[in-house]
Amino acid sequence: MANINIDSVKDRTYDAIVIGSGISGGWSAKELCEKGLKTLVLERGRDVKHIKDYPTTNMNPWEFEHRNEMPYENKKENPIVSRCYAYHEDAAHFFVKDQEHPYVQDKPFDWIRGYQVGGKSLLWARQTQRWSDFDFEGPQRDGFAVDWPIRYADLKPWYDYVERFAGISGDKDGLPELPDGEFLPGYPLNVVEKYFKQKVEGKYPERKVISARCAHISKPQPIHIEQGRTQCQNRTLCQRGCPFGGYFSSNASTLPWAAKTGNMTLRPDAVVHSILYDKDKNRAIGVKVIDRNTKEEIDFFAKVIFVNAAAINTNLILLNSKSERFPNGLGNDSGTLGKYVAFHNYSARIYAEYEGLLDYATAGRNPAGGGYIPRFRNLHKQETDYLRGYAAGFGAWRSQHSDRTGWGDDLKNSLLNPEWGNWGVGSHMMGETIPKEASYVALDKTKNDDWGIPLLHISVDYDDNDAKMKKDYLDTMEDMFTEAGFTNIRRDENSQAPGLDIHEMGGARMGHDPKTSVLNKWNQMHDVSNVFVTDGAAMTSTSTQNPSLTYMAFSARSVDYAVKELKKGAI
Ligand SMILES: Cc1cc2nc3c(=O)[nH]c(=O)nc-3n(C[C@H](O)[C@H](O)[C@H](O)COP(=O)(O)OP(=O)(O)OC[C@H]3O[C@@H](n4cnc5c(N)ncnc54)[C@H](O)[C@@H]3O)c2cc1C
Ligand code: SF4
Repeated sequence: MANINIDSVKDRTYDAIVIGSGISGGWSAKELCEKGLKTLVLERGRDVKHIKDYPTTNMNPWEFEHRNEMPYENKKENPIVSRCYAYHEDAAHFFVKDQEHPYVQDKPFDWIRGYQVGGKSLLWARQTQRWSDFDFEGPQRDGFAVDWPIRYADLKPWYDYVERFAGISGDKDGLPELPDGEFLPGYPLNVVEKYFKQKVEGKYPERKVISARCAHISKPQPIHIEQGRTQCQNRTLCQRGCPFGGYFSSNASTLPWAAKTGNMTLRPDAVVHSILYDKDKNRAIGVKVIDRNTKEEIDFFAKVIFVNAAAINTNLILLNSKSERFPNGLGNDSGTLGKYVAFHNYSARIYAEYEGLLDYATAGRNPAGGGYIPRFRNLHKQETDYLRGYAAGFGAWRSQHSDRTGWGDDLKNSLLNPEWGNWGVGSHMMGETIPKEASYVALDKTKNDDWGIPLLHISVDYDDNDAKMKKDYLDTMEDMFTEAGFTNIRRDENSQAPGLDIHEMGGARMGHDPKTSVLNKWNQMHDVSNVFVTDGAAMTSTSTQNPSLTYMAFSARSVDYAVKELKKGAI
């Protein structure tokens, strides 16, 4: 029962509620507040204030108790999160630990989460590419999932809008499969990355190697300075939180901007249990929250609700929002809620060496991480025995060796004057997976977590399409590496579980037809017009590009629509 000792219902009533304060929730909050709506942002984790709450940001390697490695005991206790490449001493405090928030893996799924104000926006690798009509037309063309109810032209102005504010660096490459954006200067490829580009593009004109696009301020504009952010210093310690605001995070950018309007109330430690639905009013009226620390139950009310808890948790909240009208989860007349979950296939990498260009070395760090190979497979026509395609990352670095066995001056000299080795090169795949009904999340019927919320079952897997795609990626990259004269080529077929890509999507997909989808073309529930979902849960298919920029664009577009509808009295 709701606690009657805390504020009156009036004090708990807002114009809008945003659930989650990560990348998509930060954008929803900013847009709602700027448009004058009194907005309550509910975040299940603790508060994290920009700069003040980045305890490791300026620490030197020797200041970490374990030199930034996670101790064995910690890895043993947290096998899932330990598999994430960024889980080290410097950023472990921003990751959810396995034991604290259990879930049921019906099939192996590494669910990587960040429960705090800012969510995973503090931790992300900031790779930001637009999706194109090769993505939005994909399901219809290739006959899977359902047709997206939008096309690139619907989202383009919103990509422009969010890119200008967030600060995205990149080159204008003129590729229809990877539309250009409102870019700050791109980070240049190094000499071997350029060499590989020239080799690949010379032999295969349809394949491109471009500079990776990323959410870093390479050249601050007035809008970034106004946010209190400035030029990225190329420290590449971003997962600690950046005191310069050099990369985009909710904490550095959208949330302080929303706060400045005076319209935002941010409530950390507020675990959303479910969305409250009133069948007489035929709308959602608010949310039920459990205080993270006291376990007190509190209801909040609003005219419009944005669900931005990150794809899997958004599904969990919606499935748990049961009522007489919606016994199987809010807005689930279609029966598709929780289904058609998909992800990105990162299960192969390839490494090699290059013995040329030894007169050069890399200088400084590249926050963009090197090169990006946009999808080229099955773009204009079906050319393989699997559907869709993959993009790939590509990077080169000059290897160094120093003798670390000595002491004092010997050791210092050896560290300061390393021997240079060959160039190392490497690539990883980012494959599109096909959303299927059989890939789903569902509530446990008996077991609850510490906040009385049912545990979530996750049943998501690879399929034959993914296996064929992976083989093609490895064969194709091996050919391209050979063509470039790389040696000592090593194929690495890792067996990483779905989820470790951290690009989980779907479950509340968009579509034209309320019978086969949960959301319409405005990310609005077909069945409950004042509930909007603008995180990964809304994605009808996954593309090969990183997803977060697209969540930002959807959030801004959807708020714009919702506020206009509210003003018209239509929702
Ligand atoms: C190491 C790493 C690297 C990544 N690299 C990239 C990349 O290069 N490019 C890219 O596009 N993406 C990348 N991602 C993924 C990216 O971080 C996510 O796509 C993005 O953060 C999703 O935004 P979101 O708003 O949906 O979720 P989040 O940013 O995770 O925010 C969700 C918020 O909701 C809160 N929440 C959850 N449940 C509840 C509840 N019941 N009640 C209240 N609050 C709740 C959470 O605590 C969290 O703060 C990476 C992620 C990680 C961890
Ligand atoms: S690389 Fe740039 S964004 Fe990352 S921590 Fe350094 S200054 Fe900040």
